[in-house]
Amino acid sequence: MAKTEPSIEIAADLLRRLHRIHRQLSDIHDRIARGPRRIAAGEAILQKGRQAIADVTDAVKRTKLAADQKQLQLREREDRVEVVRGRLNQAASNREYDLLKEQIAADEQANAVLSDEILELLERIDQVESDRTDRHRELDERLVEHERLVETARAEVAVAQEDLARVEAERQEAEQLLPAAARGDYTRLIAARGEDAFAAVDGETCGGCYQVLTTQLINRLMLSQLVRCPNCNAFLYQQKAD
Ligand SMILES: [Zn+2]
Repeated sequence: MAKTEPSIEIAADLLRRLHRIHRQLSDIHDRIARGPRRIAAGEAILQKGRQAIADVTDAVKRTKLAADQKQLQLREREDRVEVVRGRLNQAASNREYDLLKEQIAADEQANAVLSDEILELLERIDQVESDRTDRHRELDERLVEHERLVETARAEVAVAQEDLARVEAERQEAEQLLPAAARGDYTRLIAARGEDAFAAVDGETCGGCYQVLTTQLINRLMLSQLVRCPNCNAFLYQQKAD
């Protein structure tokens, strides 16, 4: 204890009350901050869903384009086969006839491969389109959930705002009772630490930092003097004896 430190009288009740008020205030501020955070998290999920739909829509377009191109290619090749087939009758020799036959066979085989590829692409289109339908349904469901979440979050914030107004009024009332000599330190400490500006003494220990307090400090507390923890600087008060 600094010998020059003037003693300030303060009721343990007032300190207990202020501590309780600041605990409530920090809880209320948490509740108020939680609402917009939850809404933002929900919006991020919706955004992901919209992106998934954009991606799958892209995949549908790309696959359709690839299928169209291959179909065009197939038609061209089939036409070519027909042309070659027409030349069979005009073959000048058996050798030319055989060569044309071979060419037709090779082209038809290539066309069969192309047809298989087209079939695969058509199946793939069905798949991505059904995927897109699923994504749309998912997003619709999430939109409904999100609306509910926004409503709940806003209602919770509104309740918290009401609590805030009530507890702020209590705080102002309680602060009027603070001894003038203590107000400067109180204001500074509250601004810096909020509810941790106070600590209840538990036995002979500071409830904020668990520092063991001297008998001298405890005695001053008993005399309703304003005492701060030598370690964590919190305003100390005795727990109410039940
Ligand atoms: Zn302490």
